[in-house]
Amino acid sequence: MALKVWLDDKLVDEADAKISAFDHGVLYGDGVFEGIRVYNGRIFELEAHIKRLYESAKVIRLDVPMSKSKLISAVEKTVEANGVIDGYIRLVMTRGVGTLGLNPFICEGGRLFIIADNIQLYPEELYEKGMKVISATTVRNHPLALPPQVKSLNYLNSILAKIEALDNDVPEAIMYNHEGYVAEATADNVFIVKNGVIYTPPVEAGALEGITRGVVIKLAREEKLEVVEKNLTRCDLYICDEFFLTGTAAEVIGIVEIDGRVIGDGKPGPYTRLLRKKFFRYAHRK
Ligand code: PMP
Repeated sequence: MALKVWLDDKLVDEADAKISAFDHGVLYGDGVFEGIRVYNGRIFELEAHIKRLYESAKVIRLDVPMSKSKLISAVEKTVEANGVIDGYIRLVMTRGVGTLGLNPFICEGGRLFIIADNIQLYPEELYEKGMKVISATTVRNHPLALPPQVKSLNYLNSILAKIEALDNDVPEAIMYNHEGYVAEATADNVFIVKNGVIYTPPVEAGALEGITRGVVIKLAREEKLEVVEKNLTRCDLYICDEFFLTGTAAEVIGIVEIDGRVIGDGKPGPYTRLLRKKFFRYAHRK
């Protein structure tokens, strides 16, 4: 069945959801986006995603041409029109049509499109067995260049690291910042467990402030588990007891090997399994 896509101010047929070749989102990756899950018909942490979108847009001086409540209603209408109960939403704002030059201020202004569809997930087996990763040689964008807190349409930094992962026959790569500290994975945040304490790099290390990361920290603290934001080195990853990633698509997934070093006993550990279970319950709550 053809999808209905939200374009600017209304739902249109998938075939009519078109963006100009002169849109600066296409020409320069000039825009911002969000990826959001739907569980049991409920849009997961929608307000947090909308807030992050507005913040990303503010950093790149893109005016979102509608109020937060109108945007929330547009997302809800798109989900409803496509009958999505468990799925994925992609919300994209581009700078709009401009010239072939860089000047963003002569562009026609923000264009919005929202897609609600099914999602291709990692196979269940990968969650049970855990995933292998490598350290990418591609350094995370410097915060003074393209701040990793901005979820911009320019993902080439992550894509270069993803290519390294795939060239090494693993699905994900860990990215380090210009100082050598762990930043994040290509599209997920990093957590480790060492001696009963959960550690995650601070956002300033060069990470997107993941919505899943925030939920997992909250759920862990509800369980009275200690969570500490701290700079982590590659060595910290090699010698941790448990290692997992969080993200909208991956949710909570255990890492069992990095750069040929086996983590723990080579299976997702008890903290990872507990937090994955708690996350599942929270996401699917009635
Ligand atoms: N880091 C990057 C670079 C991402 O693109 C994402 C989103 N997939 C994440 C982290 C995780 O963020 P969230 O939990 O909000 O999906």
